[in-house]
Amino acid sequence: MLLRLPTSLSEARRCLADGAVPVGGATLVWAQWQRDGFPEQAVSLRRLPEANAVDAQTLGAAVLLHQVDERVPEVLRRAAASIGTGAVRRTATVGGNIVGSTLRCLLPPALVLDARATVMDGDGPYEAELAEVVAKRPLMLDIRWRSPLVSGYYKAPGEAGGPPPLVVATAVHAEEDGGRRLLTAVRDGGEVLSGSVPATADAGRVLGALEGTALGGLPGEARDVVRREVADVLGRADA
Ligand SMILES: Cc1cc2nc3c(=O)[nH]c(=O)nc-3n(C[C@H](O)[C@H](O)[C@H](O)COP(=O)(O)OP(=O)(O)OC[C@H]3O[C@@H](n4cnc5c(N)ncnc54)[C@H](O)[C@@H]3O)c2cc1C
Repeated sequence: MLLRLPTSLSEARRCLADGAVPVGGATLVWAQWQRDGFPEQAVSLRRLPEANAVDAQTLGAAVLLHQVDERVPEVLRRAAASIGTGAVRRTATVGGNIVGSTLRCLLPPALVLDARATVMDGDGPYEAELAEVVAKRPLMLDIRWRSPLVSGYYKAPGEAGGPPPLVVATAVHAEEDGGRRLLTAVRDGGEVLSGSVPATADAGRVLGALEGTALGGLPGEARDVVRREVADVLGRADA
């Protein structure tokens, strides 16, 4: 297998045109390749500057999970810190998690940040919705979002190899008209649901409005956690 390490977007595009398969830290694909056979070419973005950005509004796809630190909003940082073991976090990448893993603990945080992805095909980079990235699995260069006022993350305790633990991600955003909006995303079992409602001063009303979104269909225990997390993030937004 030829591992290609492009240092520019045009080089990365050539790798795709040549049929190279994306690889992050290979924490998932290595076993699969050993079992099913190695591809002729793979492309890693670890030397591509655009895929290594970390700041208040951008996270590159080649960034390792343990490098996701205070530069990004709390919801993303805490999610990354909750994934796997220290050894996994030192090897696995943001792109491998969002595009290539089944658990995708970074997806609910990205949804509540209203993030969009920069992806690439044979014609070059373009912006895509996260739903498209998950469904079509293009080469992802980064995710970008608008900074929230506050955000929060909860992951239920779980056992390795057990069912996916409940994840609740929340963020309150300032809107252009001076109002605020609460975005909430929940991973319950294998499904990720999200809801977006105005974040008014009355927490009871906000929770009531959330019941009218897809989150209203969650089982009772998960809804209790959502209520607790939402109350917490609204309280911090008002502080
Ligand atoms: C012990 C263990 C515990 C784990 N626990 C969790 C957990 O709690 N929560 C969780 O969410 N995940 C968990 N994971 C999964 C972990 O997050 C993944 O191993 C990791 O995200 C895959 O990243 P990688 O960079 O190694 O991807 P790779 O193994 O290199 O690639 C995986 C897939 O993603 C594709 N890919 C990689 N980068 C890109 C890119 N930039 N664009 C498009 N496609 C790309 C590859 O083509 C491949 O199909 C766990 C894994 C292990 C081994």
